[in-house]
Amino acid sequence: MTAPGAGAYRIVGMRTHDVRFPTSRELDGSDAMNPDPDYSAAYVVLTTDDGFDGHGFAFTIGRGNDVQTAAIGALEPYVIGRDVEDLGGLYKELVHDSQLRWLGPEKGVMHMAISAVVNALWDLKARRAGKPLWRLLAEMSPEEIVGLVDFRYLSDALTPDQALQILKNAESSKEARINRLMVDGYPAYATSPGWLGYDDDKLRRLCQEALDQGFGQIKLKVGADLADDIRRLTVAREVCGPDFPLSIDANQRWDVGSAIAWVSALAEFRPHWVEEPTSPDDVLGHAAIAEGIRPIPVATGEHVQNRIVFKQLLQAGALSYLQLDAARVGGVNENIAILLLAAKFGVPVCPHAGGVGLCELVQHLAMFDYVAVSGSMDDRVIEYVDHLHEHFTDPVVIEHGRYRAPTAPGFSAEMHAESITAHTYPGGEVWTRA
Ligand SMILES: [Mg+2]
Repeated sequence: MTAPGAGAYRIVGMRTHDVRFPTSRELDGSDAMNPDPDYSAAYVVLTTDDGFDGHGFAFTIGRGNDVQTAAIGALEPYVIGRDVEDLGGLYKELVHDSQLRWLGPEKGVMHMAISAVVNALWDLKARRAGKPLWRLLAEMSPEEIVGLVDFRYLSDALTPDQALQILKNAESSKEARINRLMVDGYPAYATSPGWLGYDDDKLRRLCQEALDQGFGQIKLKVGADLADDIRRLTVAREVCGPDFPLSIDANQRWDVGSAIAWVSALAEFRPHWVEEPTSPDDVLGHAAIAEGIRPIPVATGEHVQNRIVFKQLLQAGALSYLQLDAARVGGVNENIAILLLAAKFGVPVCPHAGGVGLCELVQHLAMFDYVAVSGSMDDRVIEYVDHLHEHFTDPVVIEHGRYRAPTAPGFSAEMHAESITAHTYPGGEVWTRA
C-alpha cells in the first residue's frame, strides 16, 4: 500500500484571507490592555498539484489584520512551485531572507507571516503523512528534529549536541507516553470565566461551570483596578475554595514597581502564577518582578517574539512557566527550539491559547513536548478558551478538563470554507449586516 501523499509534488496555489470575528460585541477576550478585541486570523491556504492542501494563520485582534494578511502574501515566491520536503531548510531561508529580514529581524508582522506559512507547510506535511502533527513530530528521530532548529544565537545556552541529548533521553520511553496520551489526554485550564468585562455573577457562574467540567486551573484577568481585582478574586476563591490553582493575567499592564506592589496586594489569594506582568521585551524587568514577588511564580511568552528573548528570560531566571504561542514566533520550527530551551532549563511549558484556532494548533506542540522532549505533563497545562472552535474542521475536544489527543491528519488548522466567507473583512455577511 502506498502511503498517503507519497511521491513528488509541487505547491501550485497560495490564497490569503482577512478573517475577523466581531467578538468585541460580547466583550469575550477583554482584558486590561485589550478592552475590545475582534479576534481575527490572517489566513493562508497552500494547494499542491496532487490535491493536498495546507492551512495556517496568524492571530490578530482586528485592525491590522489586513497588514498581516499582506505580509503573508509577500512570501508567495518562496512556496509557489516548490516541493517543500525540507522544512528545516525552508524555515531558515524565510527567516534569513536578506531583504525581508530588515523588517524584523525575527519579530513582528513579518515574523508572524513566516509563522503562518511555516505552520501551513507543516499542516500540509502532516496531511500528506496521514498523521496528526504531534505524532508526526514525535515519531521523527532526534537527529531529524535537531535539523529543524536554527541554533544561530542559541549556542551559549543550547548547542545542537545538547538538544540531541535531550531528545535521545526521551527516545526509549516515547511509545509508552504516546499510549498514555491517547488514553488520558493533556491537562487544560480555563480562561473563559475570567475576562475583565464580565460581571461578578457571570464570573461566579463560569467558575462553577469550569469546576464542574473538571478543569484543574482557572485564570482571571487583572490589572485595570485593584479594588475590582480583590473583589473578583474573592468571588473566585469563594467558588473554587482556598487551594484550587487560580492564576492571574495582567496582559503587560504594569511597570516593574507597580507589578510588584499590585501582585503583593493580591498575594493573600495565592495566585498560581502571574502572567505577563510587564512588557514582553523586558527581560530584566521580569527578573526583578520574579525576585520581588517570590514565591509567586511569573509566567510569560504569548508575546515573546522569538527564541532569543526566551533564551534570555530563561538565563535570567525571569520566568517559572513558559507560555509559547503557536503562531507568533517563526512557526513549528522555532517553537521546537523553544521547547528544547525550556527542557534544558527545566522550566515547564504551559502554552498560550485562545484567540482564533490557537487551542487547535498549540495542543500539538504540547503533546509533542510530552512525548519527545520534556517527557512530562507534571505542573503543565494548556490554556483553553471556549469560543470560535465551531469554525474549525477538526476542533479541539475537551473531556473532563483535558485535551483529547487529535487523531485527524494535519495541524487542526483548517477553518470551514463557509466561516471564512461569512467572516471575511470587510465584505463578509457578518460585517455587512447592520
Ligand atoms: Mg495571557
